[in-house]
Amino acid sequence: MGNIVPNPARIGKAHLVVILSQPMSRSLLMILVLVLIALGVLAWLLYEKRIPPPEVQPPVEIPPAEPVEHPADRNFNPGWIGSACSHDGDCSYPRGFCLMPEEGFPRGHCSARCEKFCPDRRGDFYSATFCIDDPAYADSGICVARCNLHLTPSGCRPGYICTSLQRRKESMVQLVCLPKMGTPKPPTQCTRQLDRLGLAYTRPDLADAPTRAARPGEPPPRQDICQIDTPVLLNSPIHSVDYRQKGRRHADHLLLACRMVLGIERLSALLSEIGVVEVEYNGAYVCRGVAGTRSLSGHGHALAIDITGFERAREAPVSVQTDWSGANPKRREFLHDLAARIRKAKIFDVILTPQSGGLHLDHLHLEIK
Ligand SMILES: [Zn+2]
Repeated sequence: MGNIVPNPARIGKAHLVVILSQPMSRSLLMILVLVLIALGVLAWLLYEKRIPPPEVQPPVEIPPAEPVEHPADRNFNPGWIGSACSHDGDCSYPRGFCLMPEEGFPRGHCSARCEKFCPDRRGDFYSATFCIDDPAYADSGICVARCNLHLTPSGCRPGYICTSLQRRKESMVQLVCLPKMGTPKPPTQCTRQLDRLGLAYTRPDLADAPTRAARPGEPPPRQDICQIDTPVLLNSPIHSVDYRQKGRRHADHLLLACRMVLGIERLSALLSEIGVVEVEYNGAYVCRGVAGTRSLSGHGHALAIDITGFERAREAPVSVQTDWSGANPKRREFLHDLAARIRKAKIFDVILTPQSGGLHLDHLHLEIK
Protein backbone atom coordinates (compact mmCIF):
# COMPACT_ATOMS: atom_id res chain seq x y z
CA MET A 1 0.00 0.00 0.00
CA GLY A 2 2.60 2.54 1.13
CA ASN A 3 2.14 5.81 -0.77
CA ILE A 4 -0.63 4.61 -2.99
CA VAL A 5 -3.81 6.72 -2.52
CA PRO A 6 -6.68 4.35 -2.00
CA ASN A 7 -9.52 4.43 -4.50
CA PRO A 8 -12.49 5.78 -2.40
CA ALA A 9 -14.82 3.29 -4.01
CA ARG A 10 -12.72 0.55 -2.68
CA ILE A 11 -12.29 1.93 0.87
CA GLY A 12 -13.82 -0.56 3.20
CA LYS A 13 -14.65 -0.40 6.93
CA ALA A 14 -11.13 -1.44 7.80
CA HIS A 15 -9.65 1.40 5.76
CA LEU A 16 -11.92 4.00 7.53
CA VAL A 17 -10.88 2.76 10.94
CA VAL A 18 -7.24 3.09 9.89
CA ILE A 19 -7.77 6.72 8.67
CA LEU A 20 -9.69 7.78 11.80
CA SER A 21 -7.18 6.27 14.07
CA GLN A 22 -4.60 8.79 12.82
CA PRO A 23 -4.48 11.88 15.27
CA MET A 24 -4.32 14.50 12.46
CA SER A 25 -7.50 13.22 10.83
CA ARG A 26 -9.37 13.17 14.14
CA SER A 27 -8.83 16.88 14.85
CA LEU A 28 -9.86 17.72 11.27
CA LEU A 29 -13.07 15.79 11.79
CA MET A 30 -13.68 17.61 15.09
CA ILE A 31 -13.26 21.01 13.36
CA LEU A 32 -15.62 19.89 10.60
CA VAL A 33 -18.26 18.83 13.16
CA LEU A 34 -17.88 22.11 15.08
CA VAL A 35 -18.22 24.14 11.85
CA LEU A 36 -21.34 22.15 10.94
CA ILE A 37 -22.84 22.78 14.39
CA ALA A 38 -22.01 26.50 14.16
CA LEU A 39 -23.61 26.72 10.69
CA GLY A 40 -26.69 24.90 12.00
CA VAL A 41 -27.04 27.30 14.96
CA LEU A 42 -26.58 30.29 12.65
CA ALA A 43 -29.22 28.98 10.25
CA TRP A 44 -31.61 28.40 13.13
CA LEU A 45 -30.98 31.87 14.58
CA LEU A 46 -31.53 33.46 11.17
CA TYR A 47 -34.68 31.45 10.76
CA GLU A 48 -35.92 32.67 14.11
CA LYS A 49 -34.75 36.18 13.24
CA ARG A 50 -32.86 36.34 16.44
CA ILE A 51 -29.96 38.05 14.72
CA PRO A 52 -30.76 41.70 14.25
CA PRO A 53 -30.40 42.85 10.62
CA PRO A 54 -27.27 44.83 9.85
CA GLU A 55 -27.64 48.40 11.12
CA VAL A 56 -29.03 50.77 8.45
CA GLN A 57 -27.74 54.31 8.38
CA PRO A 58 -30.68 56.63 9.27
CA PRO A 59 -31.73 58.84 6.32
CA VAL A 60 -30.15 62.29 6.26
CA GLU A 61 -32.65 64.97 7.24
CA ILE A 62 -33.11 67.38 4.31
CA PRO A 63 -34.59 70.71 5.30
CA PRO A 64 -37.72 71.60 3.26
CA ALA A 65 -36.80 73.69 0.24
CA GLU A 66 -37.90 77.29 -0.10
CA PRO A 67 -41.19 77.53 -2.03
CA VAL A 68 -39.43 78.65 -5.21
CA GLU A 69 -41.76 76.72 -7.45
CA HIS A 70 -45.52 76.57 -7.69
CA PRO A 71 -47.15 73.69 -9.60
CA ALA A 72 -49.52 76.07 -11.39
CA ASP A 73 -46.51 77.96 -12.81
CA ARG A 74 -45.75 75.05 -15.14
CA ASN A 75 -49.03 75.48 -16.99
CA PHE A 76 -48.72 79.20 -17.56
CA ASN A 77 -46.71 80.31 -20.62
CA PRO A 78 -43.80 77.90 -19.88
CA GLY A 79 -40.50 79.41 -20.98
CA TRP A 80 -42.34 82.36 -22.46
CA ILE A 81 -43.38 85.89 -21.50
CA GLY A 82 -45.04 85.77 -18.07
CA SER A 83 -43.51 82.44 -16.99
CA ALA A 84 -41.58 81.79 -13.80
CA CYS A 85 -37.80 82.28 -14.02
CA SER A 86 -34.75 82.56 -11.81
CA HIS A 87 -32.33 84.13 -14.32
CA ASP A 88 -32.34 85.65 -17.80
CA GLY A 89 -31.35 82.28 -19.30
CA ASP A 90 -34.76 80.86 -18.36
CA CYS A 91 -36.35 83.30 -20.80
CA SER A 92 -34.73 81.78 -23.87
CA TYR A 93 -36.30 83.76 -26.69
CA PRO A 94 -34.95 86.84 -28.47
CA ARG A 95 -34.25 89.70 -26.01
CA GLY A 96 -35.84 87.77 -23.15
CA PHE A 97 -34.95 88.66 -19.54
CA CYS A 98 -36.12 87.72 -16.09
CA LEU A 99 -37.78 90.22 -13.75
CA MET A 100 -36.49 88.88 -10.46
CA PRO A 101 -38.37 88.00 -7.25
CA GLU A 102 -36.36 90.64 -5.37
CA GLU A 103 -37.68 93.18 -7.89
CA GLY A 104 -41.20 92.37 -6.79
CA PHE A 105 -42.11 89.56 -9.20
CA PRO A 106 -43.04 86.37 -7.27
CA ARG A 107 -40.93 83.39 -8.48
CA GLY A 108 -39.66 85.59 -11.31
CA HIS A 109 -41.40 86.79 -14.48
CA CYS A 110 -40.02 86.39 -18.01
CA SER A 111 -40.37 89.57 -20.02
CA ALA A 112 -38.95 91.49 -22.98
CA ARG A 113 -38.67 95.15 -23.93
CA CYS A 114 -41.39 96.39 -26.25
CA GLU A 115 -42.42 99.58 -28.01
CA LYS A 116 -46.08 98.74 -28.57
CA PHE A 117 -46.50 95.04 -29.38
CA CYS A 118 -45.23 91.75 -27.97
CA PRO A 119 -44.95 88.40 -29.75
CA ASP A 120 -47.39 85.58 -28.99
CA ARG A 121 -46.77 81.86 -28.81
CA ARG A 122 -49.42 79.31 -29.80
CA GLY A 123 -50.27 76.33 -27.63
CA ASP A 124 -52.59 75.01 -24.93
CA PHE A 125 -50.51 76.49 -22.12
CA TYR A 126 -50.02 79.92 -23.61
CA SER A 127 -51.79 83.15 -22.92
CA ALA A 128 -51.51 86.11 -25.26
CA THR A 129 -49.10 88.89 -24.30
CA PHE A 130 -49.36 92.65 -24.05
CA CYS A 131 -46.99 95.62 -24.05
CA ILE A 132 -47.43 98.00 -21.10
CA ASP A 133 -45.48 100.93 -19.72
CA ASP A 134 -42.72 99.71 -17.44
CA PRO A 135 -43.81 100.87 -13.97
CA ALA A 136 -40.17 101.26 -12.96
CA TYR A 137 -38.80 103.10 -16.00
CA ALA A 138 -39.82 106.19 -17.86
CA ASP A 139 -39.98 105.79 -21.65
CA SER A 140 -39.76 101.97 -21.62
CA GLY A 141 -42.24 99.20 -22.25
CA ILE A 142 -42.31 95.63 -20.92
CA CYS A 143 -44.15 92.57 -22.15
CA VAL A 144 -46.54 90.87 -19.74
CA ALA A 145 -49.06 88.02 -20.07
CA ARG A 146 -52.75 88.64 -20.46
CA CYS A 147 -55.08 87.01 -17.95
CA ASN A 148 -56.32 83.66 -19.20
CA LEU A 149 -58.99 81.82 -17.21
CA HIS A 150 -58.35 78.63 -19.20
CA LEU A 151 -54.90 78.34 -17.65
CA THR A 152 -55.51 79.07 -13.95
CA PRO A 153 -58.62 79.83 -11.86
CA SER A 154 -57.54 83.45 -11.32
CA GLY A 155 -56.37 83.91 -14.91
CA CYS A 156 -52.82 84.51 -13.68
CA ARG A 157 -50.01 82.65 -11.96
CA PRO A 158 -50.37 82.45 -8.17
CA GLY A 159 -49.05 85.68 -6.68
CA TYR A 160 -50.18 87.72 -9.69
CA ILE A 161 -53.40 89.65 -10.08
CA CYS A 162 -55.52 90.34 -13.14
CA THR A 163 -55.47 94.12 -13.69
CA SER A 164 -56.79 96.24 -16.55
CA LEU A 165 -54.04 98.29 -18.13
CA GLN A 166 -53.64 100.32 -21.25
CA ARG A 167 -51.38 99.25 -24.08
CA ARG A 168 -48.21 101.33 -24.26
CA LYS A 169 -48.69 104.35 -26.54
CA GLU A 170 -52.31 103.44 -27.22
CA SER A 171 -55.71 103.68 -25.56
CA MET A 172 -56.56 99.98 -25.93
CA VAL A 173 -57.03 98.31 -22.53
CA GLN A 174 -56.52 94.65 -21.69
CA LEU A 175 -56.56 92.55 -18.53
CA VAL A 176 -52.98 91.59 -17.73
CA CYS A 177 -51.22 89.75 -14.93
CA LEU A 178 -49.18 91.89 -12.54
CA PRO A 179 -47.59 91.01 -9.20
CA LYS A 180 -49.94 90.99 -6.27
CA MET A 181 -48.12 91.88 -3.09
CA GLY A 182 -49.61 89.61 -0.50
CA THR A 183 -48.99 91.62 2.64
CA PRO A 184 -52.23 92.86 4.17
CA LYS A 185 -52.27 96.60 4.58
CA PRO A 186 -53.22 98.33 7.79
CA PRO A 187 -56.37 100.43 7.38
CA THR A 188 -55.88 104.10 6.58
CA GLN A 189 -58.18 106.97 7.42
CA CYS A 190 -59.46 106.74 3.84
CA THR A 191 -60.14 102.98 3.82
CA ARG A 192 -61.95 103.31 7.15
CA GLN A 193 -64.19 105.81 5.40
CA LEU A 194 -64.81 103.26 2.60
CA ASP A 195 -65.78 100.73 5.27
CA ARG A 196 -68.19 103.18 6.88
CA LEU A 197 -69.79 103.80 3.47
CA GLY A 198 -70.23 100.03 3.02
CA LEU A 199 -68.26 99.88 -0.24
CA ALA A 200 -67.05 96.53 -1.55
CA TYR A 201 -63.37 96.70 -2.40
CA THR A 202 -60.02 94.95 -2.14
CA ARG A 203 -56.59 96.46 -1.69
CA PRO A 204 -53.92 95.39 -4.17
CA ASP A 205 -50.44 96.52 -3.29
CA LEU A 206 -49.65 98.23 -6.55
CA ALA A 207 -48.19 101.22 -4.72
CA ASP A 208 -45.18 99.06 -4.00
CA ALA A 209 -44.60 98.82 -7.73
CA PRO A 210 -41.33 97.04 -8.42
CA THR A 211 -38.29 99.24 -8.47
CA ARG A 212 -35.00 97.94 -9.71
CA ALA A 213 -31.50 98.82 -10.74
CA ALA A 214 -30.88 99.89 -14.32
CA ARG A 215 -29.90 97.20 -16.80
CA PRO A 216 -27.15 98.00 -19.29
CA GLY A 217 -28.32 100.66 -21.74
CA GLU A 218 -31.39 101.62 -19.76
CA PRO A 219 -32.17 105.00 -18.25
CA PRO A 220 -32.19 105.26 -14.44
CA PRO A 221 -35.50 104.19 -12.90
CA ARG A 222 -38.03 106.79 -11.92
CA GLN A 223 -39.56 106.04 -8.58
CA ASP A 224 -42.25 108.69 -8.83
CA ILE A 225 -43.93 107.47 -11.97
CA CYS A 226 -47.47 106.18 -11.77
CA GLN A 227 -47.54 105.61 -8.04
CA ILE A 228 -51.01 105.19 -6.54
CA ASP A 229 -51.73 106.50 -3.06
CA THR A 230 -53.64 103.67 -1.29
CA PRO A 231 -54.73 101.71 -4.37
CA VAL A 232 -58.18 100.19 -4.16
CA LEU A 233 -59.99 97.75 -6.46
CA LEU A 234 -63.55 99.00 -6.22
CA ASN A 235 -66.38 96.59 -7.02
CA SER A 236 -69.59 97.58 -8.77
CA PRO A 237 -72.35 98.49 -8.15
CA ILE A 238 -71.94 101.63 -6.07
CA HIS A 239 -75.33 103.10 -5.07
CA SER A 240 -76.81 100.72 -7.68
CA VAL A 241 -74.56 102.15 -10.41
CA ASP A 242 -72.30 99.75 -12.33
CA TYR A 243 -68.99 100.90 -13.81
CA ARG A 244 -68.22 99.17 -17.09
CA GLN A 245 -65.06 99.62 -19.12
CA LYS A 246 -65.78 100.65 -22.71
CA GLY A 247 -65.64 97.67 -25.04
CA ARG A 248 -66.41 95.19 -22.26
CA ARG A 249 -69.76 93.54 -21.71
CA HIS A 250 -69.86 93.51 -17.92
CA ALA A 251 -68.82 95.74 -15.09
CA ASP A 252 -65.78 94.70 -13.10
CA HIS A 253 -63.50 96.30 -10.56
CA LEU A 254 -62.08 99.77 -10.93
CA LEU A 255 -58.50 100.40 -9.87
CA LEU A 256 -58.38 103.79 -8.17
CA ALA A 257 -56.57 105.69 -5.44
CA CYS A 258 -58.64 105.58 -2.26
CA ARG A 259 -59.57 109.28 -2.21
CA MET A 260 -60.79 109.01 -5.83
CA VAL A 261 -63.05 106.15 -4.65
CA LEU A 262 -64.62 108.62 -2.21
CA GLY A 263 -65.32 110.89 -5.19
CA ILE A 264 -66.80 108.00 -7.19
CA GLU A 265 -69.05 107.15 -4.24
CA ARG A 266 -70.47 110.67 -4.15
CA LEU A 267 -70.78 110.76 -7.94
CA SER A 268 -72.66 107.42 -7.88
CA ALA A 269 -75.15 108.73 -5.32
CA LEU A 270 -75.77 111.73 -7.57
CA LEU A 271 -76.13 109.55 -10.71
CA SER A 272 -78.45 107.13 -8.95
CA GLU A 273 -80.80 110.01 -8.12
CA ILE A 274 -81.23 110.84 -11.81
CA GLY A 275 -81.85 107.25 -12.88
CA VAL A 276 -78.38 106.20 -14.09
CA VAL A 277 -77.76 102.46 -13.66
CA GLU A 278 -74.48 102.09 -15.52
CA VAL A 279 -71.47 104.27 -16.30
CA GLU A 280 -69.34 103.48 -19.31
CA TYR A 281 -65.76 104.66 -18.88
CA ASN A 282 -62.66 104.53 -21.00
CA GLY A 283 -59.66 104.54 -18.68
CA ALA A 284 -59.27 105.26 -14.99
CA TYR A 285 -55.76 104.18 -13.97
CA VAL A 286 -53.59 104.73 -17.01
CA CYS A 287 -49.88 105.29 -16.63
CA ARG A 288 -49.29 108.16 -19.01
CA GLY A 289 -48.51 111.84 -19.21
CA VAL A 290 -50.82 114.71 -20.06
CA ALA A 291 -50.94 114.84 -23.87
CA GLY A 292 -48.39 117.29 -25.25
CA THR A 293 -46.64 117.84 -21.92
CA ARG A 294 -44.02 116.10 -19.80
CA SER A 295 -46.17 115.98 -16.66
CA LEU A 296 -47.98 112.88 -15.48
CA SER A 297 -51.74 112.75 -15.97
CA GLY A 298 -54.12 112.31 -13.01
CA HIS A 299 -54.80 108.91 -14.57
CA GLY A 300 -51.20 107.95 -13.79
CA HIS A 301 -52.03 108.25 -10.09
CA ALA A 302 -55.46 106.60 -10.47
CA LEU A 303 -57.09 109.89 -9.49
CA ALA A 304 -59.11 110.39 -12.70
CA ILE A 305 -61.77 108.70 -14.79
CA ASP A 306 -62.92 109.30 -18.35
CA ILE A 307 -66.67 108.72 -18.60
CA THR A 308 -68.00 108.12 -22.10
CA GLY A 309 -71.64 107.24 -21.54
CA PHE A 310 -74.56 106.45 -19.23
CA GLU A 311 -77.21 103.74 -19.19
CA ARG A 312 -80.47 104.81 -17.59
CA ALA A 313 -83.18 102.72 -16.00
CA ARG A 314 -86.19 104.02 -17.89
CA GLU A 315 -84.70 106.09 -20.69
CA ALA A 316 -82.40 105.76 -23.68
CA PRO A 317 -78.65 105.50 -23.08
CA VAL A 318 -76.62 108.68 -23.41
CA SER A 319 -73.27 108.96 -25.16
CA VAL A 320 -71.00 111.93 -24.48
CA GLN A 321 -69.62 111.80 -28.00
CA THR A 322 -72.99 111.82 -29.81
CA ASP A 323 -75.22 113.63 -27.37
CA TRP A 324 -73.18 116.49 -25.88
CA SER A 325 -73.78 118.58 -29.00
CA GLY A 326 -76.22 116.15 -30.59
CA ALA A 327 -79.65 116.61 -32.14
CA ASN A 328 -81.63 115.06 -29.27
CA PRO A 329 -82.42 117.96 -26.93
CA LYS A 330 -83.36 115.75 -23.96
CA ARG A 331 -80.14 113.79 -24.01
CA ARG A 332 -78.11 116.95 -24.61
CA GLU A 333 -79.81 118.61 -21.68
CA PHE A 334 -79.23 115.53 -19.52
CA LEU A 335 -75.47 115.75 -20.10
CA HIS A 336 -75.18 119.51 -19.60
CA ASP A 337 -77.37 119.35 -16.50
CA LEU A 338 -75.30 116.47 -15.15
CA ALA A 339 -72.03 118.37 -15.68
CA ALA A 340 -73.53 121.34 -13.83
CA ARG A 341 -74.64 119.11 -10.94
CA ILE A 342 -71.20 117.53 -10.64
CA ARG A 343 -69.59 121.01 -10.58
CA LYS A 344 -72.03 122.24 -7.97
CA ALA A 345 -71.43 119.20 -5.74
CA LYS A 346 -67.70 120.09 -5.70
CA ILE A 347 -66.74 116.41 -5.83
CA PHE A 348 -63.85 116.77 -8.27
CA ASP A 349 -61.08 119.33 -8.71
CA VAL A 350 -60.90 119.00 -12.49
CA ILE A 351 -63.94 118.55 -14.75
CA LEU A 352 -63.28 118.51 -18.47
CA THR A 353 -66.15 118.15 -20.94
CA PRO A 354 -66.37 118.31 -24.75
CA GLN A 355 -66.58 122.07 -24.16
CA SER A 356 -62.97 121.99 -22.95
CA GLY A 357 -62.01 121.07 -26.49
CA GLY A 358 -59.90 118.78 -28.60
CA LEU A 359 -59.07 115.64 -26.66
CA HIS A 360 -62.23 115.56 -24.56
CA LEU A 361 -64.88 115.44 -27.28
CA ASP A 362 -66.02 111.95 -26.35
CA HIS A 363 -65.79 111.89 -22.54
CA LEU A 364 -66.07 113.68 -19.23
CA HIS A 365 -62.71 113.75 -17.47
CA LEU A 366 -63.24 113.83 -13.70
CA GLU A 367 -60.17 114.19 -11.52
CA ILE A 368 -59.23 114.72 -7.90
CA LYS A 369 -55.95 116.53 -7.20
ZN1 LIG B 1 -58.95 111.78 -18.64
